[in-house]
Amino acid sequence: MFPEFTLRYAHFPERFHTRFDPVPVKSPRLVAFNRPLAEELGFDLIAFDATLATDWFSGNRVPEGAAPLAQAYAGHQFGHFNPRLGDGRAVLLGEVTDGEGRLRDIQLKGAGCTPFSRGGDGRAPLGPVLREYLISEAMQVLGVPTTRALAAVTTGERVIRGVPVPGAVLTRVASSHLRIGTFQFFAAQGDSEAVKRLADHAIERHYPALADIASPGERYLALFEAVQARQAVLVARWMGLGFIHGVMNTDNASIAGETIDYGPCAFMERYDPATVFSSIDEGGRYAYTNQPWIAQWNLARFAETLLPLIDDDQQRGIDRATEVLKTYAAVYEAEWLAVMRAKLGLSEAAAGSDSADRGLIESLLEAMHTGRADFTLTFRRLCDAAEGEGHESELVALFERAEPIQAWVAEWRQRLAREGVAVGEIAQQMRAVNPAYIPRNHRVEAALAAAIDEEDFAPFERLMQVLARPFEERAEHADYAQPAPPTAQVFRTFCGT
Ligand code: AMP
Ligand code: MG
Repeated sequence: MFPEFTLRYAHFPERFHTRFDPVPVKSPRLVAFNRPLAEELGFDLIAFDATLATDWFSGNRVPEGAAPLAQAYAGHQFGHFNPRLGDGRAVLLGEVTDGEGRLRDIQLKGAGCTPFSRGGDGRAPLGPVLREYLISEAMQVLGVPTTRALAAVTTGERVIRGVPVPGAVLTRVASSHLRIGTFQFFAAQGDSEAVKRLADHAIERHYPALADIASPGERYLALFEAVQARQAVLVARWMGLGFIHGVMNTDNASIAGETIDYGPCAFMERYDPATVFSSIDEGGRYAYTNQPWIAQWNLARFAETLLPLIDDDQQRGIDRATEVLKTYAAVYEAEWLAVMRAKLGLSEAAAGSDSADRGLIESLLEAMHTGRADFTLTFRRLCDAAEGEGHESELVALFERAEPIQAWVAEWRQRLAREGVAVGEIAQQMRAVNPAYIPRNHRVEAALAAAIDEEDFAPFERLMQVLARPFEERAEHADYAQPAPPTAQVFRTFCGT
């Protein structure tokens, strides 16, 4: 009933991981299960046995064919290098082949103390587990590359996070759990052979077209460039949604280009580019507006690990990697422009110039900032405004002062006219990229609180339902589109993981 495992990482040499079975929990209860994802992965849902599934997803029973292990990795945390992090509470069961023939990792997060636990308890509290479940699944439908959530189980045990809270296990599915930090772990030890092995694995799994490049140096340089491109796409999508990851350490940067390790992440409400939510990010290193440049910093750390593979001569390797890294700004800017143009109903073909469109987008953001407008609602109400003159009153109402946004709308309408497409059509296209519903922090917090304090999962399920169709405004969910009332605004999110 569990899809067949195609073990790959388990067959890597011992220094890549430690074999480790999940530590059983007291009384597991399956509180969330992602049937569509299970189907995609090849689970037999007709023969679905909830008791068995609960045992698997709690770690109480190792599915047949799995070879559970904790992966080794290092990472720069807030700019400081830690040579040994690794899976301190996550266990990779193995890889399965999905319906499209792609390998997917299945990992239990919160599965007990591993040799990498470094004093942690190896467990996960229910709150962060449900948070990751909600937000990763929301990101998926919002069109952002992301790890997925297959199941959540409560353990019947308490974990201490200042106070005792219910424990849980998340089953996470990823294209892989290769991180920049995985490469750093070996590079820091001067183990180029291991780095090469990882690079080959990354190419095979995520960038198979590169395998045809005959020259090894060119091939690994191309890997760097490909990872860079995916990071640029990823961060551009985050920026288009007002998403703040919160902990963009190199161990949380996926080689596959997926959003991974949802901790104190959040979607911004009132637009302010300097927004930081994470309570542990005191210097604002991972503020909204810094994210594209932090991704680049992380990519530089990745490039450093590949240098010996790129060229035998270190200086030549550095020069070549630097050449690629220098293109990041242009690659990112192009991705961002594409995302933002779509949000504003603009096509590249009808643009006067990139810089004119860029200026138009930036002046909207400026108006949102000074007008203290809600990020998500601004773009959603802009879709209505695209219907034509007289349709912008709800948009304008989001701003503290009407005049700047009215002036901007007039300018935008002139640009829209060049599109040569019926206004209704433009509005419809815009509604397909500007969500009405995002996981608003106060809703997420309320859903988590009900589950934690009252074992009431109804608010969580309702929120999941709303977020499953984010682009479709439904009258019965109107409340979910609204920002937090002043009393419920969330300014700080806690790792507490
Ligand atoms: P994260 O903040 O989740 O990206 O984790 C950073 C590092 O801390 C990783 O090596 C994790 O495995 C480890 N870690 C986080 N929470 C725990 C925990 N409760 N027990 C053991 N290790 C943990
Ligand atoms: Mg992490």
